[in-house]
Amino acid sequence: MGLNDSSPGAVRNGRGPSEQWAESLSVRPRTSGRHMTVHKRLVLAFALSILTLIVVTAVAVVLGVRFEECGGGGEESGARVPGASPKSNGSRGERVWDRWEEEAGQPWRRSRLPGTLRPRHYDLDLAVCMDNFTFSGEVSIDIECLNATRVIVLHADRIQVERVHVTAEGGAGGRAAGRPGGGAIRVHRHFPFPANQMYVVVLHRELKANRSYRLNLTFHADIQDELLGFFRSSYTLHGERRYLAVTQFSPTHARKAFPCFDEPVYKATFWLSLRHESHYVSLSNMPVESGGLSEDGGLLTQRFARTPRMSTYYLAWAVCNFTYRETHSDSGVTIRLYARPDAIASGAGDYALHVTKRLLGFYQDYFKVQYSLPKLDLLAVPKHPYAAMENWGLSVFVEQKILLDAQVSSSSYRMELTMVLVHEICHQWFGDLVTPVWWEDVWLKEGFAHYFEYVGTDFLFPKWNMEKQRFLTDVLHEVMLLDGLGSSHPISQEVQQAADIDRVFDWIAYKKGAALIRMLANVMGQRLFRKGLNDYLLSHMYGNAAREDLWRTLSQTMRSEGRDIDVGAVMDGWTLQMGYPVLTISKNQSEQLSTHYISVSQEHFLYGQDGRGNRSVEWQVPLTVAVGNESWVCPETLIWIHNRTESHWLVEMDDRSWLLGNINQTGYFRVNYDLQNWKLLIQQLHTRPQLISVGNRAGLIDDAFNLARAGYLPPGIPLQLIGYLPEETAFLPWHAASRALYQLDKLLDRTDDYSLFSDYVLKQVASRYHHMGWPSNVVDGGDVLQPSYHTEELQRELIMLACSFGNKQCHRQAVAYISDWISSNKNRIPPNIRDVVYCTGVSLMDEDVWEFIWMKFHSSKAVSEKKILLEALTCSDNTFLLNRLLNLSLTSELVAEQDAIDVIIHVGRNPQGRRLAWSFFRDKWDVLNARYGEALFMNSKLISGVTEFLNTEEELVELNHFIRSSGVGAGPALPRALEIVEGNVRWHRLHRRHFYQWLRKAPSPAHASWS
Ligand SMILES: [Zn+2]
Repeated sequence: MGLNDSSPGAVRNGRGPSEQWAESLSVRPRTSGRHMTVHKRLVLAFALSILTLIVVTAVAVVLGVRFEECGGGGEESGARVPGASPKSNGSRGERVWDRWEEEAGQPWRRSRLPGTLRPRHYDLDLAVCMDNFTFSGEVSIDIECLNATRVIVLHADRIQVERVHVTAEGGAGGRAAGRPGGGAIRVHRHFPFPANQMYVVVLHRELKANRSYRLNLTFHADIQDELLGFFRSSYTLHGERRYLAVTQFSPTHARKAFPCFDEPVYKATFWLSLRHESHYVSLSNMPVESGGLSEDGGLLTQRFARTPRMSTYYLAWAVCNFTYRETHSDSGVTIRLYARPDAIASGAGDYALHVTKRLLGFYQDYFKVQYSLPKLDLLAVPKHPYAAMENWGLSVFVEQKILLDAQVSSSSYRMELTMVLVHEICHQWFGDLVTPVWWEDVWLKEGFAHYFEYVGTDFLFPKWNMEKQRFLTDVLHEVMLLDGLGSSHPISQEVQQAADIDRVFDWIAYKKGAALIRMLANVMGQRLFRKGLNDYLLSHMYGNAAREDLWRTLSQTMRSEGRDIDVGAVMDGWTLQMGYPVLTISKNQSEQLSTHYISVSQEHFLYGQDGRGNRSVEWQVPLTVAVGNESWVCPETLIWIHNRTESHWLVEMDDRSWLLGNINQTGYFRVNYDLQNWKLLIQQLHTRPQLISVGNRAGLIDDAFNLARAGYLPPGIPLQLIGYLPEETAFLPWHAASRALYQLDKLLDRTDDYSLFSDYVLKQVASRYHHMGWPSNVVDGGDVLQPSYHTEELQRELIMLACSFGNKQCHRQAVAYISDWISSNKNRIPPNIRDVVYCTGVSLMDEDVWEFIWMKFHSSKAVSEKKILLEALTCSDNTFLLNRLLNLSLTSELVAEQDAIDVIIHVGRNPQGRRLAWSFFRDKWDVLNARYGEALFMNSKLISGVTEFLNTEEELVELNHFIRSSGVGAGPALPRALEIVEGNVRWHRLHRRHFYQWLRKAPSPAHASWS
C-alpha cells in the first residue's frame, strides 16, 4: 500500500492544504441574490448581538455583578469551572475584557465554527468501562491559528469537560513548548454552549495567526443508549447477554464522543488509543500499532496507527467480543469481517468478505487510485441507525445488510446486501478520501455511492445488467415520484443547524444524485467520465471538494478532448432547481416547415396543479431521440434543449413514423408525445415490442402511468400500453408495470369497482404467469453467480402479481406449500418466493398459520429469513392479530428497534391493516418520534409508509388535524405526505370515473382506442 504510518496525510496529500483550506471556508453562494440576503442577515444578527451585549453589560455594571457570572446567556451560567481564574470585581482589566468580548461577537452563537483555527492532529486516549457504560478521555489537538483570536470554539455535546490547557507550540515551524514563543497560555474561562453543541475556551491572551498551539481537554461521558455518538447494544450468545459499544459519528455525532472541530472540512490526522477490559477486543480505522496488558492483566491498552487526514465523522472505534474471518485483496489490503461468534462460525460473513475483496480491486482499477489504508474491517452489529456506515477502514453494517445464509436467502436479498457493500466500499473513495466541503452537497458522496451500486454490481455479476436496467425502476422511477411533488427541494440544500443536517440524507440526495451522475456519465461517454473522476479524486484526495470543483474538473477533462461543454452551467440547473422537466415531443405539423422537423417543449413536471406553467424554470436537457416505424429504428440523435420550445431537424419521417425520446432513459426527465405518436408507439409494442429496447419499454410504461396520474395524459393510455404485456418476456418492463399497478392499487383497493381493476391486471398477467410457472425448490447451494437472475426475478414478479391480485391457482399453490411445511416441518419453499408464499399463506389461512410463522420467527437464526417471517405476519386480515403484532413491535425485545418501523409500514400495506396502522401511528406518535426522531430518515420512511394510501376527504382531514396537533418538528416528511394525500383525493375526484369507464369497455389489444 505504501502508506507511511507516521505522516501519511502529508505524504499523500497532493495539494497544499492551505489553499484548499482558504477555498473551502468561503461561503458558497448559489446566486448573488441569495448571497446578498445571507450577508444582510448576518450583518443584522451581528448588530443585534452587539446591541444586546451593550445592554446586558450596562445592566451588569449598574448592578455591580461580575460579568462572567451572568454570562451572555442562561446556557453558560453555572458552567464556570475550576481553573478559570476570576478577576476582581469590575476591575479595569475586566472592563477591557468585556469590551473585547463584545467586539468578538460571541462566535459560539453562530451555528458554524468561526474558522479562525484549524486542527491538524488529534491525540485521543480513551478508557472505556463496559460495566457501567461510561468512558473517560483526554484529547490533545494540534491547532493552527489562521486569524488571531482569544476564543477557541469547538464542538462537544453530552460530554463533561473537566480540564482545559492550551500551550503554544511556537511558530508555524512547530517549535516545541518551552522554546521561545512556546509555553502555557492561561485560560480565562471555559464553558459549554449547548444550543450549538459547542464548547468555548476563552483565553487571557490572543492566539497569533500562523502559529501552532496545542489544546488539551480531559472529559468523561456515558456510552449512549441511543444509536449515535459512542453507543452500546447487546446480543445473546449461548443464552447469555453480551454487550458491545460502537460509534456512529455521521453526520454530527463525533462531538458526543470527544471535543472536536466537528465539521467535514476540518480534516486532521488521528492517533487513537483505547483502554478496556482484556476480554474485549477493540477496533478502529487503522490497525493496532502497539498495546499491552496492565500489570494485573485486567486492562488492555490498544494504540492504533495514525490515520491519514480525514473528517471527524469518519473516525470510528468499537469495543466488543466478536470474532472474525479474514482475506487479503490482490494489492495486500487485509480485509476482515467481524461479527457475533456464532455468525462467524456459521460462515454468514463469507459472502461479504469475498465480494469486498473483488470490489477493492474493481474500484482501484476504475478510479486509478489505490485504497488508502492497510486494512479494511467490516463490522456487523445487531443495531444500527442506518443500513451501514462507511467509516474509513472500519465500516459498520447492521447484520441484516451483511450476513447471508446462502441456503435460505432469496436472490433479491442477496442483491440488496451486495449493493450495500458496493455502496460502502465506493465511499472509501467518494466520502472518506474526498469529502464534500459541507452537508449541502452530501449528494456528492451519496449520489456517487448510489450510482456505483449499479456499476459495481455489474462488475461482480455482469449478467445482472444493473446499470442499464434495474437502475431505471429502482432509482430513476422511484425518485421521480418524489421529485415531481411541489414539496420537493433542490438536491443541494442549504443547511446550517446541526439539527437540520440529518434531513439532507434523503432519497433526493441519494437517488436524484445517482440519476444526475448517470445522465452526466452518458453525455460525457464512459471513458471520459472515468478519466474525469480520476482527475477529480487525484486533485482532491485527503481533502474536501464542492460541486463546483467536480464541474470544473469534468469540464477540463472534456476540453482536453476537444469537447467544450461548461458542465457547471448545465448541471447547476439540475442541482440548484428542484424537480425535473417533462419534454413534449411532436412531429411538426406547421405549413411553413417541412414535415421532418420535430418540436420539443419543456415544462416543470408536477403532480399537482400548483406551480405549473412557471416560465422561469428551465433546464438544459440532453435529449436523445430515435425515429422508427414497424420494421426499423434509426440510430438515436442527441439534441441539447435550452429553451422552452425548440424545433429540430432529424430525419425523413412519414405518417407511420414514431418518435421515441430519452433513449434507454439515461436522462433525468419524462417524455410526453402527441396522442398520435402514443398510438403509434402502443401499436409498435403490440406488434413487435423488441424493436424498442428493454429500458425504453420500461420507461414508456413509467412515463405513461405518471403522466396520466398528473393529468398530462388520458388515463386510458397507460392501460392501453400495458395491454402488450402478455407478449413481454423481459423482467424490467414487467417490474415497471407492477410498480405502477401497485401505486394504482393503493388508490383503488377500497373502492366499489375494485374488481374491474384487479380483473384487468390478472388478465394481463395470466398467460405469462402460467407460462413461467413456479420455481423448483432445489436450493442452489449458494453459488454467487446467477446468470438466470432476470428469469428468476420475472418469475417472482409474476407470482407476486398473480397472488396479490387474486389468481386462484397462485393462491392454491401458496397454501399447498405452507401446508406441506406445517405437516412435514420441512421448509421446501424456494427461497426466492418465500416472502410471497408466507404472506399469501398468512392472509388466506387460519390463525394457526399465523402462530406457526410467529414461532418460526422466534426460532429462526438467519437474519434474512427472520425479516420475511416478520413481514409475513403483517399480511393477516385478522385485525386482532395485527393489533397484537403492532403492540409487540414496540414493546417486545423480540423485534429489533429498526424492524419495528417495517412492521408498522407493512401493516399499512395490507388493505385490511391500513386504518389500523394509521391509527396506531397517531396514537404512538410520541413514542415513535422520541425513538426515531434523531434518525429522520427512518421517521420519514415511517410517515410516508402509513400515509401514502390515504385517499378520502375524511382521511385528508385526519391528516391535517394530526399535522396541526402533533406534527411540529417532524421535518419535511409531513408536508410531503400531505401533498401526496391531497393528490390522491384529487385523483379520485377528477380521474376515477374515467378510469373505471375505460376499464368497463377495455378494448382487446388489437383495437387501439381510448377515451
Ligand atoms: Zn452512503
